[in-house]
Amino acid sequence: MLEQKRILATSIPGPKSQALQQRKLAAVSAGVGTGLPVYIEQAAGGILRDVDGNQLIDFGSGIAVTTVGNGNQRVIDAVTKQINDFTHTCFMVTPYEEYLEVAEVLAEVTPGTHEKRSALFNSGSEAVENAVKVARHFTGRQGVVAFDHAYHGRTNLTMGLTAKNMPYKHRFGPFASEIYRVPMAYPYRWPTGPENCADEAFAEFVDLVHSQVGEDNTAAVILEPIQGEGGFIVPAPGFMKKVSDWCTEQGILFIADEVQTGFCRTGDWFASDHEDVVPDLITTAKGIAGGMPLAALTGRADVMDAIHVGGLGGTYGGNPVACASALAAIETMKVDDLAGRARAVEALFRPRLEALADKYDVIGEIRGRGAMLAVELVSDLQHKTPDADLTGRINKACHAAGLVTLTCGTFGNVFRFLPPLSAGDDLLSEGLDILEDAFVQSV
Ligand SMILES: *Cc1c(COP(=O)(O)O)cnc(C)c1O
Repeated sequence: MLEQKRILATSIPGPKSQALQQRKLAAVSAGVGTGLPVYIEQAAGGILRDVDGNQLIDFGSGIAVTTVGNGNQRVIDAVTKQINDFTHTCFMVTPYEEYLEVAEVLAEVTPGTHEKRSALFNSGSEAVENAVKVARHFTGRQGVVAFDHAYHGRTNLTMGLTAKNMPYKHRFGPFASEIYRVPMAYPYRWPTGPENCADEAFAEFVDLVHSQVGEDNTAAVILEPIQGEGGFIVPAPGFMKKVSDWCTEQGILFIADEVQTGFCRTGDWFASDHEDVVPDLITTAKGIAGGMPLAALTGRADVMDAIHVGGLGGTYGGNPVACASALAAIETMKVDDLAGRARAVEALFRPRLEALADKYDVIGEIRGRGAMLAVELVSDLQHKTPDADLTGRINKACHAAGLVTLTCGTFGNVFRFLPPLSAGDDLLSEGLDILEDAFVQSV
């Protein structure tokens, strides 16, 4: 295992990474961006080592994927064993037990004690696509309601569900029809103040669905329990529950997109747990499999079993190596109580972020839950003017000092933290020291 220590051997990116980046420009589409072009050759725990011998502290987990830690030993052992046994048969041709085990454990850990069924896929987008397919088929309705600031993926249907134009949708239309957008209960930016946010946003939601779609035409409402790419927006408390209860009354399926929030990231198994919401359908991916590509759609047995045989699937969906990896990752979450660890990470981060907010009047809000935390940066606390420039400068300063950080948000002004849950307190504290220095240099 790599020593859990930051090392700056060269400037960042170093010469070897720079040379690789030149090759990238000549071989990889410009459309595929790289936030921090250091090329990684090894990773363990909370450390990424690049080709120049730099060791960077990981505050991103490859976008909430390596929740169980980079190079988790259980994952390595399970994947190695599975590769030696077999790598693929296609579950739709000749099945295997690992797929069943993943479906069984999904039924166990996802919200609600009702009968559930799952189907496995390769990416979060694909899970969301299938959630919409299933909801339309089951309800016989077509409309799908998504929220402002939502992110649900980059395939055609999920681009349509995603809110933000640049970079996700720009000139990639036309998008799928029968998608309707409603305001998000975004407490920090709610016009009449956070205390009114849940009730007013819910009233607007009901009004818009009623007047512009019609309840009887609405198959599903899809919501991220904490919005990810859109800015780590935590819906006003109670909002998600009101929406999901109302959907139940109207025969509309409530889909929780937990692709980013799921699997202990927010200090519970799922972020829906925190709001006491039991979704009809839940999509998962990212943290599910310790870095292997796997996604799932899990839902009410009556809904999931309404689909005709052969209606769901895909060549690679639930690949045995990815399944073995998921079983090892989920085992780690249970045995090592990673939900508890996520809460401990929040307890470590929050006071440090609050101290920063006291010192610099650019932090409009600190928000998130567990090990999914963010600060929203503004140039003016009163008018809440988003400061994407400053966010970018702080991000660059962190990168230069060997801390892998990510930004997000509709306005590009949210700085987010998604550390691996196996990173030790010392490493996380050192990362926070770097962040503090980045504020000193950048504000
Ligand atoms: C990342 C993400 C997706 C898309 O997942 P991919 O695996 O990138 O297709 C969908 N929904 C949410 C909430 C996400 O964070």
